[in-house]
Amino acid sequence: MMQNSNITPEMENQMIEQAYQNLLNGYLSSNHRKKVEIIDKAFKFARDAHQGIRRRSGEPYIMHPLAVATIVSQEIGLGSTSISAALLHDVVEDTDYTVEDIEAQFGKKIARIVDGLTKISGGIFGDKASLQAENFRKLLLTMSEDIRVVLIKMADRLHNMRTLSSMPANKQYKIAGETLYIYAPLAHRLGLYAIKTELEDLSFKYNHPAEYDRIKSQIAASEEARNELFTRFAAPIRERLDNMGLKYTFTVRVKSCYSIWNKMQTKHIPFEEVYDLYAARIVFECDDESAEKPTCWSIYNEITEVYAKHPDRVRDWLTTPKVNKYRALHVTVMGPDGNWVEVQIRSRQMDDIAERGFAAHWKYKIGEGEEEVELKSWLSTVTDILKDPEPNAIDFLDTIKLNLFASEIVVFTPKGETMTLPKGASVLDLAFTLHTDLGTHCLAGKVNHKLVPLSYKLASGDQVEIITSNSQKPRPEWERMLVTAKGKTRLRSALKHQRRLIIDEGEKQFMQFLADHKIEFSNEVLSQIISRQFVANKEELFFMIGNKEIKLNDEILNKKEHGGRFNWLRRNPFKGKEQPAKTTDKPQEAINTKAIYRLTTRDGKSNYHIAPCCHPIPGDDAVGFINDDGEVVVHKMDCPTMARLKASYGSRLVQTQWEDHGDRFLATIHIEGIDQKGILQSIVNIISTNMSINMKKMNVTADQGVFSCDLDVLIGDAAVVTNLCREIKKVKGINSASRMN
Ligand code: MN
Repeated sequence: MMQNSNITPEMENQMIEQAYQNLLNGYLSSNHRKKVEIIDKAFKFARDAHQGIRRRSGEPYIMHPLAVATIVSQEIGLGSTSISAALLHDVVEDTDYTVEDIEAQFGKKIARIVDGLTKISGGIFGDKASLQAENFRKLLLTMSEDIRVVLIKMADRLHNMRTLSSMPANKQYKIAGETLYIYAPLAHRLGLYAIKTELEDLSFKYNHPAEYDRIKSQIAASEEARNELFTRFAAPIRERLDNMGLKYTFTVRVKSCYSIWNKMQTKHIPFEEVYDLYAARIVFECDDESAEKPTCWSIYNEITEVYAKHPDRVRDWLTTPKVNKYRALHVTVMGPDGNWVEVQIRSRQMDDIAERGFAAHWKYKIGEGEEEVELKSWLSTVTDILKDPEPNAIDFLDTIKLNLFASEIVVFTPKGETMTLPKGASVLDLAFTLHTDLGTHCLAGKVNHKLVPLSYKLASGDQVEIITSNSQKPRPEWERMLVTAKGKTRLRSALKHQRRLIIDEGEKQFMQFLADHKIEFSNEVLSQIISRQFVANKEELFFMIGNKEIKLNDEILNKKEHGGRFNWLRRNPFKGKEQPAKTTDKPQEAINTKAIYRLTTRDGKSNYHIAPCCHPIPGDDAVGFINDDGEVVVHKMDCPTMARLKASYGSRLVQTQWEDHGDRFLATIHIEGIDQKGILQSIVNIISTNMSINMKKMNVTADQGVFSCDLDVLIGDAAVVTNLCREIKKVKGINSASRMN
């Protein structure tokens, strides 16, 4: 625990008092009724309750609830009840006071919110897979009771993210991963755009510090040129808006680091090629609500008279607002330098709602309780999933996440009934939504009387008939065709049932095999075979046997290169050091002492496994995950599987560092281009002659003039792959060359 000895108790009290005054001043300048008394009481209560306790950063603990209450008031726009609850949010969790004490002092309403917040916290330090999902489940259920619980939880998370630097590294990964995975999408769904963006950026910063810094400095380096350009761009528009007699602000906003990085990743482009790096925004003052829309369109007219507009990029969210209530008019025009510039046109009220979401509605006194109506349909989907008898923790998070972003389409059954589905839903989605049996036996669909495959994406207005067959069976790869939570949940339970049958069959075969070899069954025998086959557990082993993926032969009992019969057992590197997950930091510390796990090889054996999902190689940002057998499995930092593991098993993460032992790793490179004579020879020359890289496999296809090639190479460092791709891209005809996961 750090504590600066130069800070006297008097200085600390002054700091607390100042933070509280700042909270009050913000509240008093808002449109809320001035109920200072209750806030004052809550502040004093919380201050006394947390007396003497410090945060990891060394600050007095009360600074945290004060900061959360300030976010609740000034960044989300909530009133005295929420501010008081925010001040009290950690009292029941961290001190001896009970919810009953809070109720006696502050009444039922505040007590219930604090109770909700207490129930959904704690998961941050949790160690069990189900814990985070369970907390999230509670969070969503509480949401229907009082939306303020979720909003305050958001503020709590935001402040924890802002102060994340005082946490140890592996906890940072976990919290940042969880934030990106759950809280940012939830903030988006709630319309808390500014908070969502900040959460994403902070998560990005802790997960990819080097890339975050690089993008930050690139934004800074291009600032002057950008501002100069914007001034030139804005001048003729300003002139026209001034002539209209408008009161407005016209600003330029750079995208967040995270969204720039995201774009660079998905489009495989460097920073310089992100063309929509910034957007211009006009926010105008308007007291008369009926004048808002026409004013937006007048501004639009003025802009498009100065600059040519992009025909496909006018977004009218005035007539049909987004699900999260976003309203604005967007137009993209050709700027003076020949680049496209997006201009967002909003009234002050629209801007407020866009930045602060539902909470801003209270400010404008739009019918109370409306936000609950808005969330109701989404919540009913959540409730559907919650009813699933055995929701797997990670699947659950996945399906929830899916529905956070969904917008909707409406299709018709042959009987003319309407069905609402999320955008992107397939024929198979509809089948599963109607009935599990219809889904598992679904063969194809008829859309507007035309036969289409299961994966066919439906559009609003389609008339859809489901075609089934009794011999059809559900398949795991169907999951890729599904976007609905219901479809995924129902497919999974059908597959689970099917899997159970295969496991039983595999177990039978395994037992017979042991009997045939006169080996007595024991847990020792079982665990050594599990370990040698690199499967997670016995279910996995039996499943693979039942599915004929693992063959029952002598090899399964004896692998010479690993030290002979039954001797070779991987040991848990942290065995005996882990403590049961209970409260606070303890179990985490056990791993933190091993802050960096060195990836080494000894005697031809490595002390880790390379994750098959993302194949990290030395030089990649990687992170280790301790599996059920105590083995360290190394994933790439941005591996999607890792994202889920982070959210659920954060305390099992270990920081890793590559050590060079001259080992070679497999990397796959995908190459595409226009086929021409000598193209293959040029590629081979680069690999073998110029760069002396060991090529393992090459799979080339040339179809109708399109050349494509998957290349397996053995290399020692990620940088070599990057180099190789760069060199291959120079070959005439090649369009792209990139490493695949
Ligand atoms: Mn807190």
